[in-house]
Amino acid sequence: MALSPMMQHYLNIKNEYKDAIVFYRLGDFYEMFFDDAVTASKVLDLTLTGRDCGLDKRAPMCGVPYHAADTYIARLIENGFKVAICEQLTLASESKGMVERGVIKVVTPGTVTEDNMLKAKSNNFIACVYKDKNNIGISWSDITTGEFFATQTCGQNCLKDLQDTLVRIMPAEIICNEEILTISKSLPCVSFKYVPEFSKLNNFYFEKQLCLNNLQKQLKTNNLKSFDIFEKNYALISSGALIEYFKQTQKRELVHLNNVNYINNGKYMILDVATRKNLELVTTISEGKKKGSLLGLIDFTNTSMGARMLVSFIEQPLVDVQEIVYRQNGVEELIKNQLLLNDLSDTLNNIRDIERLSGKISYGSITPKECSQLNKSLLSIYDVKHILSGCKSEILNNIKSNLSGIDEVVKLLSSSIIEDAPNVVKDGNFIKQGFSEELDKYRELKNNGKNILNDIEIREKERTGIKNLKLGYNKVFGYYLDVTKSYQHLVPDDYIRKQTLSTGERYITEELKTIENDILNAEDKIIKLETSLYNEIKNKLLGFVKNIQTVAKSVATADCLTSLSKVAIRYNYVKPEITENSVLTIKNGRHPVVEALLSEGSFVPNDTLLDCGENRMNIITGPNMAGKSTYMRQVALITLLAHIGSFVPAESARIPITDRIFTRVGASDNLAFSQSTFMVEMSEVANILNNATKKSLIILDEIGRGTSTYDGLSIAHAVAEYILNKIGAKTLFATHYHELQELENKFEGIKNYRITVKEFNDEIIFLRKIERGGASKSFGIQVAKLAGVKEEVIQNAKNILKKLNESAVNLEEKPMVKITRQNPLNLEILNKINNLDINTISPLEAFGLLNELKEEIGENID
Ligand code: ATP
Repeated sequence: MALSPMMQHYLNIKNEYKDAIVFYRLGDFYEMFFDDAVTASKVLDLTLTGRDCGLDKRAPMCGVPYHAADTYIARLIENGFKVAICEQLTLASESKGMVERGVIKVVTPGTVTEDNMLKAKSNNFIACVYKDKNNIGISWSDITTGEFFATQTCGQNCLKDLQDTLVRIMPAEIICNEEILTISKSLPCVSFKYVPEFSKLNNFYFEKQLCLNNLQKQLKTNNLKSFDIFEKNYALISSGALIEYFKQTQKRELVHLNNVNYINNGKYMILDVATRKNLELVTTISEGKKKGSLLGLIDFTNTSMGARMLVSFIEQPLVDVQEIVYRQNGVEELIKNQLLLNDLSDTLNNIRDIERLSGKISYGSITPKECSQLNKSLLSIYDVKHILSGCKSEILNNIKSNLSGIDEVVKLLSSSIIEDAPNVVKDGNFIKQGFSEELDKYRELKNNGKNILNDIEIREKERTGIKNLKLGYNKVFGYYLDVTKSYQHLVPDDYIRKQTLSTGERYITEELKTIENDILNAEDKIIKLETSLYNEIKNKLLGFVKNIQTVAKSVATADCLTSLSKVAIRYNYVKPEITENSVLTIKNGRHPVVEALLSEGSFVPNDTLLDCGENRMNIITGPNMAGKSTYMRQVALITLLAHIGSFVPAESARIPITDRIFTRVGASDNLAFSQSTFMVEMSEVANILNNATKKSLIILDEIGRGTSTYDGLSIAHAVAEYILNKIGAKTLFATHYHELQELENKFEGIKNYRITVKEFNDEIIFLRKIERGGASKSFGIQVAKLAGVKEEVIQNAKNILKKLNESAVNLEEKPMVKITRQNPLNLEILNKINNLDINTISPLEAFGLLNELKEEIGENID
């Protein structure tokens, strides 16, 4: 038995798209066969049936109606599948043999363009990674907006740089060459599932000549010399390969993808995975939500384009004073002129996502409704331009100047598409009156056919003088002119006799025939004409994609500036002074997010002074819950906000350019779900020690806590010393090891600070104020009480603490016991300790045992 021709064709297609589920169009359905059908039926909850395929056994099959395909495709994509859409390319009625079918698009997580599969306020990036020895090229693009970026990193740190980049852009899909595939599985950002698994492309994608050709063709140039990517070999290959992937999956020209933005190392502040998470920049640690994050607080944008750009502002803080001040000045002007700010914000509210609409133009998928939305939005651009006309800051002036090049597209859309156009093309009724004479004629015929015929009757009566000439209709001849016997002599030559009756004759004319034809076919003609006119309009729009993109970027920038201005006004922020020197001073700084959660005025502001000299490192002590973490994060967030051009929550601030912010925060973060907490903590410390520079800001919150006290203390001590003397980065170091306060006396550059509390009747009152000096107590038991731990346990803890304090050992004063295997007593002690079950022993039992051991040791010291 042999496969049926259709099944043979299906299998040929499947063979080409092995890694995708093939949606094979059969009439009104997309069908899936064999393994694809089995998989899809499970994922999509479809009934699995079978189809005769020419073989003994029926082919497993399942299907979805074509008009509902988007929803099913979305579900498959969400579950990590790719979908190849194999469409009917000819009509069954027009085909002689089998209907022609071919794959028109492969939908993958990183290349979806359908609105229902996208988030309006975030980019959907696909990344391509190319690795060759210690060199990595990374390119990423959002095909819905046309943004395309590339960078490369060379040397020992390349895998770390790769991860930092991936975590920053959070791609929906990562494609790569063979060399990086195996390594990728062990990268923490992949194993912790921050980013999707890499998928490998064939080697040919990465052939240099092909990549070069692809890039040149895409950028419409013969020479890449004028592009930043020129001579960046690895970025060039990853970019060329990504374009090849677009070619293979999208199967169309992507005109909106017309630039490669090369990201130089050093253009942005570097924030590693842990720091991004710890500072809760765009999502919270606990719930992964935007609400409660820094982004959630400062996002007052009115457009999706602005919202996406604001994310990139936060993800990529600037490190160039001029670039920062350029943004700051725009924010300042808007804050000072709130009328301007309100007008601008209200107008931006009328602007749709024209950046993604430009992507849809490029795809040819823009609907008439979206065209009218585009037009309305573009009309609002003129208002924005007008509003910005008196602006003084360079950035607002540049935005205004870039809001141009849209006159022709507005003219085209205003004249061609009605205001409230429908979404679908197939029903017509969206091309404006007056745009096409021919279309108007058919519409007139359709709507006004009777009047036209009446007019003909009147005109013919006058022309021929046949006073009782009548226009009639029957099914056999259609429209005719009825002339009675008495007027036959007046019948003109162009009348064609069709029927003789006893009373007279019936005639038709060429004109009547055409009009009749036109009336009867008007509806059909109108739809065909509207469709072809619409295709012409869409083609013309292609020529405006670049202009629309430029305008969209300017709108997004304006939107971000209004957002930053609004947050500054609402929460009373000030303009920080950005400096090239090394002194960081904050007067009455506040934590932006914590402040917003508390009732107005209840957040206690604090000062900060850090520099590269005497105040390189602040050791911060204070009871639990005093506000150490909040204070340190506030310094990090103020520094970060200052670097994105924002105002900051403080009375005044001078912030030096900072190349990186590092945070090592708390022991309870959920980064640690497959490594021990201590291991994660130490690898973060290692990262800081390896990468921090004099220009970095380091936040260390209780390092060393995840291990035994003395190990932890020693590590914390050594780390502090190394940062202080070998790196010189500005450091805030919160600790419960009060011993570390000794460092202030030992080294220059360290200052002790404490967050104050007041003791009152065995209770503590948090004052939240930071001041010079060290803390002497931890108040852990009082905090436990505050947290609702049972009174009985609290009392017990107090007793134990008291006894422990009484028998505290000063290690430096007491002689050390040498524990050797030769000493039987020591082995005995070791055994006792070894047999201890820490999980079940009560604190009192532990205390008793300790006493016992101490006595035994004491008796044996010589
Ligand atoms: P621990 O040592 O137990 O980790 P901590 O000293 O780091 O505690 P935080 O977690 O920073 O304490 O602060 C505890 C809570 O105190 C915060 O959640 C916040 O609600 C409040 N808080 C902190 N700082 C301030 C402040 N300056 N003004 C008002 N409330 C504050």
